[in-house]
Amino acid sequence: MNNAKAYSAASATSPLARTTIPRRDPTEHDVQIEILFCGICHSDLHSVRNEWSSLMPTVYPIVPGHEIVGRVTNVGSAVTKFKPGDLAGVGCMVDSDRTCPHCQADLEQFCPNMTLTFNSPDKHLGGVTYGGYSDSIVVNERFVLHIPSNLDLAGVAPLHCAGITTYSPMRHWGVIKGKKVGVVGLGGLGHMGVKFARAFGAHVVVFTTSPGKKEDALRLGANEVVVSRNADEMKKHAGSFDFILDTISADHDINAYINLLGHDGNLTLVGAPEKPLAVSAFGLLFGRRSLSGSLIGGIAETQEMLDFCGKHNITADVEVIPIQKVNEAYERLLKSDVKYRFSIDMASLKSR
Ligand code: NAP
Ligand code: ZN
Repeated sequence: MNNAKAYSAASATSPLARTTIPRRDPTEHDVQIEILFCGICHSDLHSVRNEWSSLMPTVYPIVPGHEIVGRVTNVGSAVTKFKPGDLAGVGCMVDSDRTCPHCQADLEQFCPNMTLTFNSPDKHLGGVTYGGYSDSIVVNERFVLHIPSNLDLAGVAPLHCAGITTYSPMRHWGVIKGKKVGVVGLGGLGHMGVKFARAFGAHVVVFTTSPGKKEDALRLGANEVVVSRNADEMKKHAGSFDFILDTISADHDINAYINLLGHDGNLTLVGAPEKPLAVSAFGLLFGRRSLSGSLIGGIAETQEMLDFCGKHNITADVEVIPIQKVNEAYERLLKSDVKYRFSIDMASLKSR
């Protein structure tokens, strides 16, 4: 066993603070990775504060982080896809049963025995898994991604969650040239959604509660920007969208967006607010509209997304921070004040 430096929270109300955690020695199929950057996802904050307690109660101490990029330092004897020195990525999952119908369909994210990168039972060491706010991690090679060599690593880290979570539903619902696509909420997920929708050739409209993000939305690839608190601006788009991706992390009126869909239009929720959302049946009945959800993406599709990003030079727009600023970053996340993802430079873990 190795000791790794990390940041953990001791309770739902404690700040994250320096700690030491155990990491297993690589078994024959494992890859050991020195973590260089880890993105801060709003899911980290939901989990640290136990906001998803009814579905996934948080076990403390928690070490969050599932947008990991680093360099391979050691591999098990049976590993074939990686060697020491390679760049490597890890997202929200580190294992699954590989035999269920979901795994067989390359949809490991729906496997009933899937292991999340943090706060999941750890099959090797007992207790729960610890995530990427750490200087190293050990992961089975099937759950380790190859990183295109042309991309900036701080901006690559967030692709492992924010990237795949927005890429996957857009692929599934046929976002292509000629489609009118809405992206609701311009945060970590939202800004990646804008980049992908534009890269797929769609006409992209951003819905934001922050008028100050208008210029950035256009720079990121939006064709139009709507300040969602302005009812007149919203009305202009009634009944016109093929697809809307809702990335909002907090309670909001989802019916306002369902009403913007055209017939057979789809609204996919990827945001995961703490409390249930109220849905008006009539918004769905008229126009045969549909409402669905989407959870990250399988490993094969995550690799496809990374390769797509390499080819099209796509990364997240990041604000790189030392880990000592993580608690401040969480407070800013709650104020929608992030441009547009925090990426922790893990070299900062070495200093006090
Ligand atoms: P984020 O960076 O904090 O962005 C969320 C954005 O939502 C904010 O920037 C803000 O955008 C908007 N927003 C926040 N509070 C709002 C409110 N009260 N009313 C209206 N809009 C509001 O968060 P993120 O990391 O992108 O994550 C977004 C959500 O997706 C979280 O709930 C997270 O847990 C979830 N998530 C789900 C998956 C999945 O697999 N489905 C994966 C990762 C994350 P504007 O300033 O533009 O309004
Ligand atoms: Zn995430």
